[in-house]
Amino acid sequence: MKITEFEHPNHPDHILMLKSSDVPYKCDGCKELGFGPCFKCEDCNFHLHEECALASKSSYHPLLKRCELRFCEETYGGRYCDACGKDVMGFVYQCTHDNAHDLHPCCLKLQRIIIGDGFELRLSDKVPSKCLKCNSKEISRGIKGWSYVSSCGEYCYHVACVKDLVLENWRNGYFNGDNDNISAQTSNLALLQIASPSNEVAQRGDRLGSKAKKFWRIAKMVLKLIISAIFGDPTGGIAIIVEALVSSTSA
Ligand SMILES: [Zn+2]
Ligand SMILES: [Zn+2]
Ligand SMILES: [Zn+2]
Ligand SMILES: [Zn+2]
Ligand SMILES: [Zn+2]
Repeated sequence: MKITEFEHPNHPDHILMLKSSDVPYKCDGCKELGFGPCFKCEDCNFHLHEECALASKSSYHPLLKRCELRFCEETYGGRYCDACGKDVMGFVYQCTHDNAHDLHPCCLKLQRIIIGDGFELRLSDKVPSKCLKCNSKEISRGIKGWSYVSSCGEYCYHVACVKDLVLENWRNGYFNGDNDNISAQTSNLALLQIASPSNEVAQRGDRLGSKAKKFWRIAKMVLKLIISAIFGDPTGGIAIIVEALVSSTSA
């Protein structure tokens, strides 16, 4: 049976209810952003991802086969997540090896395979081609991070880069949940060149014309699916903004 009410030791005074959120929320466990259903206390504006509220004591991940990952509510500073490369600020799964691996609870639970319309994306720690957002195989600090890669190998996005895309726009106020304002927001958004295609890709576009258009149409579909896989399925106003965000992401 699905758990819809929950008492969490980090929020002892009130019962948390599983509800979907109209605006993106910041999880009070892992401090990462989320869309869609979460455990929340409306009185206190307290939110937990399902993955954070229902974390198990220990877990495994097929991309970190030799690691037993133990759930911790806090860790010492300077840790980053092996999947998304972002800092660990709260709840985390960490292995017991000397050079420990870390995974945010949501990153541990990232969908391993996304099935789209005629294509399949796999979560991978190796990239056959450059990420379509940053045009690189590494994300930063020499970290490779994990990516979603299509079976043909042509479509590849870092989990980190998709997170950045959404976070930048969240910080810029495009996800403020003011539904009346969504059309104004999305038209602003469309004016922004959020992720200008790399020179290489632009050149490819000049040469290939309609093939390039098809390429970018699929790339946008891929991106939208990855956003849902990372942040949860967007509903209502969030879905509209995600749509606009993805549409303005390429030429
Ligand atoms: Zn969380
Ligand atoms: Zn409360
Ligand atoms: Zn390990
Ligand atoms: Zn992560
Ligand atoms: Zn990237």
